[in-house]
Parts: sequence; structure tokens; C-alpha cells
Amino acid sequence: MRHIAIIGSGPAGYYTAEAAQKQWGDDVRVDVFDMLPVPYGLIRTGVAPDHQSIKGVSKRYEKTALTENVRFVGNIKVGEHISIPELQQLYDAIVIATGAPHDRKLGIEGEDLGNVFGSAAFVGWYNGHPQFAQLDPDLSGKHAVVIGMGNVALDVARILSKTEAEFAGADIVAHALDILRNNKLRKITILGRRGPHQIMMTPKELGELAALERASPRVAPDDLPDEAEDAFLEPGLRKSVAHLRSFAAIPEDIHAEKPIEIEIDFFASPCSLSGSDGKVTHLKVERTDVQAGRAVGTGEFYDVPADLVVSCIGYHTAHIPDVPFDERAGRFANDDGRILPGIYCVGWARRGPSGTIGTNRPDGFSIVEKIAEDMAAGVLGRSDKQGREGFDLMAEQRGLDVITFRDWKKIEEAEEQAAREGAPREKFVDIKAMIRARR
Ligand code: NAP
Repeated sequence: MRHIAIIGSGPAGYYTAEAAQKQWGDDVRVDVFDMLPVPYGLIRTGVAPDHQSIKGVSKRYEKTALTENVRFVGNIKVGEHISIPELQQLYDAIVIATGAPHDRKLGIEGEDLGNVFGSAAFVGWYNGHPQFAQLDPDLSGKHAVVIGMGNVALDVARILSKTEAEFAGADIVAHALDILRNNKLRKITILGRRGPHQIMMTPKELGELAALERASPRVAPDDLPDEAEDAFLEPGLRKSVAHLRSFAAIPEDIHAEKPIEIEIDFFASPCSLSGSDGKVTHLKVERTDVQAGRAVGTGEFYDVPADLVVSCIGYHTAHIPDVPFDERAGRFANDDGRILPGIYCVGWARRGPSGTIGTNRPDGFSIVEKIAEDMAAGVLGRSDKQGREGFDLMAEQRGLDVITFRDWKKIEEAEEQAAREGAPREKFVDIKAMIRARR
């Protein structure tokens, strides 16, 4: 019997569990740890609440979770309740699948002003992550600035623009819907330091901006490169740029029908934030020129009104004691997933915050292949570890309150019962409430 501990129950964690099952069948036991009492990581707290079809992938993880040889070990924080050296004593291999939960900093003056948030916090707030449930952003101002030209920036701009009716069928949490319902925003500027050919936005997500009930996307035609140059782009980006071209062609009378403008401002690099009474009011920006793919400042500065700022510029992984970390890259120090003998990483914890949910599947399968290779090469040492039995004993001795998958199903049921009409669930946003719900 081989024993594997996976830390993190998001896509990377469950795809690795699935791969381990396929690799070793009945000869493996996999424990999937999560610090929260609820599984699925970014599927629950990262994927936009109005993108329910994407969240449907959790059914696949549930299939894995319900098998005999995989179990969910929720409400356990590795590094606090149990250390990495202790896990090493119990399991043949440890796979870290903790994603990248911390916001990258802009590193500009004024970043600590009120109503300036990173996307991990802001997305976590509207998605009911317990850590960010109290964020309480002020949406009473007219102007929001969303920094970054990736899909997270699109998620944030779209969520800020939607009417209550457009959230039908979404699992946006009640505290966020209450604030968004009274949203007074009139202009959302999505700011990118480079140009239309350098965006990270995918076509489907970008196209959604044109279908919003009360918001209209605006692109300055002069920002667009010569159309002939689009032919050199890879097909996905070419489609996204085609959306930008269609936004640039929206006539003024159509813009006028919608009260919120989503301005997509290119060649604009954030320089500093200023405010009054501790709260942000403006973002100073420098115009850029893209040279050999890099944004270069032109020395021309201007101010953008900003009553709310959400910086969507990427994430970094959280440290775990005793695990080597690459500070520059913001993830675990690893060689293609191998950190130390018997310790591996997958998903965003391995490669940083890139790719789609599906990208994590080959990642999970590839790390399991490496574990199998290392086992065969004798790198993982003795094969008489206690695995889950040893963990259970330790948990009992320490009085740890482990949440099982069966407990989660009860929490899930309570969330489904609490759903407002048309919504799939109303998430618990408080850890104690989640734990109580299992009873
Ligand atoms: P991303 O795709 O890497 O985009 C980050 C953006 O931030 C880029 O436009 C980048 O510009 C900009 N940026 C970085 N540092 C900056 C700075 N200091 N100042 C100004 N701009 C800066 O990251 P993301 O949007 O957080 O998404 C993370 C991953 O999740 C991506 O793989 C994304 O596709 C995925 N995701 C997918 C979906 C979906 O499929 N529906 C939804 C959400 C997220 P430069 O290019 O100039 O560096």
C-alpha cells in the first residue's frame, strides 16, 4: 500500500488524486487536506459566481472524492495542525496543491489606501471566502479602476456591472449582492500597461462585456493596431482582438442607452494612488509605448478618478514551513514539480497563476508519473508508512476537528436549502457556521 498526502482540494489537488487512483488502483490511499472545512478551492471561491457551468467540474472531483481510496481531510492546516516533517513520517509522498492565494502587490505609493483591493480579496469577498467576508468595499462612488488585462479583471468588471436580475442562477453570496444592488458606479476603467495585442483576456470572457444589460464596453479606435497585424496573432488572441475592434465600433447612441461605461484603457501604467480621509480618489497613470513587447513610460502622466480600485495583476503562493520557496517567482522552488525527495507540487503552486482549470489535469497526471518513477528508483525510502491510520491517531491525540467528505455533503445540503430562489446555494462565509452545519 502506498500513502499519498495532497495538500489543497482545488482542481490541482483532485486531478492529482484522480491520477493516483488510475496509477495504483486499490494499492494507494490518498488523503486530500484542506485548511477550510469545504473542498474545491478556486472552483468554490475563485471561479466567478455567474459562471456556474465552469463550477460543474466539481462533480468530477466528487466522483474521485467518493471512492474508497481517496478521502477529504478538511479543516486541517498543514504547517499549523500538522507539520511537513510529520506528514513525511506518515505518507510516502506529499503533493502540495495549495494554489496561489495571495495578491501580488502593485508596489506603488498609496496601495494601502482604503477601497483599494487585490483581486484575491475582492473575488474572495463576492465568492464567500471566509477570509474576505468582512471586506465591505464601498461602491457608492462613480468610478472604479480595475488594473490588469486578464480574465480576472474581466470577472471583476463584469460583476461590478451586472444588475441584480443578471445574477439569477449565480451563487454570489448575499452580503456581496446586497452591496452590488446599491452600486452607484457609472464608469469602470480597465487599465492595461500594454496594448490590445498583449491582452491576456480570452474571447468568450471578453465577449461577455458586450452582452451586459446596463454596461457598454468602450475602446478608443486609435489604440488599435493596424488590422492586418492581427493575422500574426494566435487564434484565441485574434478572436479577443476582434471583440476589441467591435467594441471600438459601438456607436455613441448605443453607449448612451447604457448607464455604465466600461472603458478599456491601453498603454497606461499605474504610478501612484492618492486619496482623502484615508480613502482612494485618484490613480496617477503614465502613458506607455510598447517596445519589443515591453511597456516603456513616455513621460506623459494623467489622473484617473478612482473611488474603488481592484488590482488584478496575478497572485503568489503561500509559504508552508519547511518547504523551500522561490521568492522571485512567488511559488515553491521546484524542478518540474519536484521540491525535495518525497515532496512535490502541482498546479499554481508549481507553475504560478496561469492556464485554465483543465491545465491542472495533465499537471496532476504528470506529477503522479514522477512519484511513480521516484518510488521505482527507491528515492522515497521505506514503504511501511502508516498513512491515514497514523494521521487519525495524531488527530485524535491533538483534538483536531477533521471535516470529512460526508460532513461536507451535509454542509452542502444546508447551503442548497438556504439558497435564494433560482440560485444553486447560499454559501456559508463563516468557518464556525460551516462546521456547525455538518451537525
Ligand atoms: P493574467 O492573465 O496573468 O493577467 C494579469 C494582468 O495583469 C496582465 O494584463 C498583466 O499585464 C497585468 N499586470 C501584471 N503586473 C502589472 C503591473 N505591475 N501593473 C499593471 N498591470 C500589471 O492573470 P489573471 O487575470 O489574474 O488570471 C490568472 C489565471 O486565471 C489566468 O490563467 C486566467 O486565464 C485564469 N482565469 C480564467 C478565467 C476563465 O477562464 N473564465 C477566469 C479568471 C481567471 P502584462 O501582460 O503587461 O504583464
